[in-house]
Amino acid sequence: MKVSQMLLPTLREVPAEAEIISHQLLLRAGLIRKSASGIYTYLPMGMRVLHKVMNIVREEMDRFGGYEMLLPIVQPAELWKESNRWAVYGEEMFRLKDRHDRDFCLGPTHEEIITEVLKGDVNSYKQLPLLLYQIQNKYRDEKRPRFGLMRGREFIMKDLYSFDKDFEGLQESYDRMYKAYSNVFKRCGLNFRIVEADSGAIGGNTSHEFVVLASSGEAGVVYCDDCDYASNIESAEAIPETLAGETALKKELIDTPNLRSVKEVAELLKLNPKYFIKSLFYKADDEEVLVLIRGDREVNEIKLQNYLGCLELEMLDSDKVASICQADVGFVGPIGIDIKIIADKEVPLIANAVVGANKNDYHYKNVNSERDFKIDAVADLRLVGEGEPCPKCTGRLESARGIEAGQIFQLGTKYSDALNAKYTDENGNEQLIVMGCYGIGVSRTLQAAIEQNHDAEGIIWPITIAPAQVVIIPVSTKDLGQVTAANDIYGFCKEAGIEVLLDDRDERAGVKFKDADLVGYPIRLTVGKKTVNEGTVDIRLRHSGEEQAVAKEEAVAAIEKLVDNLLQGQGPEFVDINKP
Ligand code: ATP
Ligand code: MG
Repeated sequence: MKVSQMLLPTLREVPAEAEIISHQLLLRAGLIRKSASGIYTYLPMGMRVLHKVMNIVREEMDRFGGYEMLLPIVQPAELWKESNRWAVYGEEMFRLKDRHDRDFCLGPTHEEIITEVLKGDVNSYKQLPLLLYQIQNKYRDEKRPRFGLMRGREFIMKDLYSFDKDFEGLQESYDRMYKAYSNVFKRCGLNFRIVEADSGAIGGNTSHEFVVLASSGEAGVVYCDDCDYASNIESAEAIPETLAGETALKKELIDTPNLRSVKEVAELLKLNPKYFIKSLFYKADDEEVLVLIRGDREVNEIKLQNYLGCLELEMLDSDKVASICQADVGFVGPIGIDIKIIADKEVPLIANAVVGANKNDYHYKNVNSERDFKIDAVADLRLVGEGEPCPKCTGRLESARGIEAGQIFQLGTKYSDALNAKYTDENGNEQLIVMGCYGIGVSRTLQAAIEQNHDAEGIIWPITIAPAQVVIIPVSTKDLGQVTAANDIYGFCKEAGIEVLLDDRDERAGVKFKDADLVGYPIRLTVGKKTVNEGTVDIRLRHSGEEQAVAKEEAVAAIEKLVDNLLQGQGPEFVDINKP
């Protein structure tokens, strides 16, 4: 690989469109270019990194018993209608029609189509279990594509599907993938956490996410400071706080002119917001519901949506709320309201609460849920925060932000049931196939690695996924001695199987050094005057800045050793488990 022959367009300026550092560096290092919002081209160096990540993923899938295949991107609507997801996916799905006016979509995921394939060719218990995967483009017309490859509309995913006879088998497949995923992210040099997760629209029960820690990440996670509990904030179980024992006092109407927020009324009454009940009106599909939550807490809409089992969830607009309550938002409450009321678990624990009075400029105090209004259902509906008790032990929760790079799900029989995928068991009875699905955002992982590994000069690639392990820079391409030495070392490196790039451009040395730091090769070898005069080259490590002079005859051996050392730090965690 020679820079003079490659398309490697580095940029000195920070592109205005890129908000986060990894996106800026992807563009500046000449790895990707944007075609449209959320849609990107991978330039040669970007492609090399992509291949590295894909190969790690492939090796780990294969190591744990997976077999690669390739499913179609263009998928017929009928299959999606059978699973009812043609409706569920909504606007996120890219839809198209063929010349016969038949409906298709560009696959946002592939559960339906692979289940259909299995149905045709698997019918006996003897053929199970199966772990099948592909690495391919996915299409999701995201509401807010942003941060480059992090949230694309066309992106690359590895998706694996497991097919088992029963739930025990599913658990085994799931455990394998759990290990395979841990290996993948470790080998990519990432600092990540495995957290319990919500299974969302995909369906099923048990799920884990692999979250790469980064302050710019869109995923919130909480973890215990004492035990190994860790969860996505969306699915973290909340432990209700019991308030000190109080007896219910007499309900009282209070004047709160123009004071609409919990904060304002709390200040007036000199009362802690935890003694307030907030009333939030939602539209869940076609049903209107009132959700009650303590004044100092936030509703977790994922929990709410799961609890209600609805496809769409949105807050009611203020006019609609006003017509239900005969008062403006800010003064509304649960007393006398006859739509369905669901309360968070902490609401019934307040003996004397403040609520809106359903009358402008008034609230009630000393309201008691048992006595003063009806609750149709109580559930855990709130977001958990830092410092709260751990649901598994006596520890406290810490919180962090991260990038969801992968997620694994136990689907059970959701899709086999919908698409009627069955096998015949040992006793000749028909049974539904039990499924799991497992996704890694390959392109997102690539960018997550940059988000975690960079400095002011540019990217610092973990060696396992670097576009090249070594860059060789001749300081002057006008000095024949330097050019010859650089070419020789380049040739020997290639023979030794080292992934090496020669920066043979006729540019100032400073430009080449800057580019080397920007693109982030783990090892830099400089050939300069000293090489010609004293016979030494300089070898420098990108991550630590350590530099040493080595005799040019020993350069290749020295590099081989450095590469080995760097690679060893990122070996897999788990060894092969009984794969033939
Ligand atoms: P998110 O919550 O970030 O939207 P998701 O839960 O919809 O992701 P999955 O369906 O679990 O994602 O997809 C598996 C993996 O694919 C994710 O863990 C993530 O790494 C990646 N991924 C999902 N959506 C995108 C996207 N729009 N751009 C890039 N990668 C994505
Ligand atoms: Mg997910």
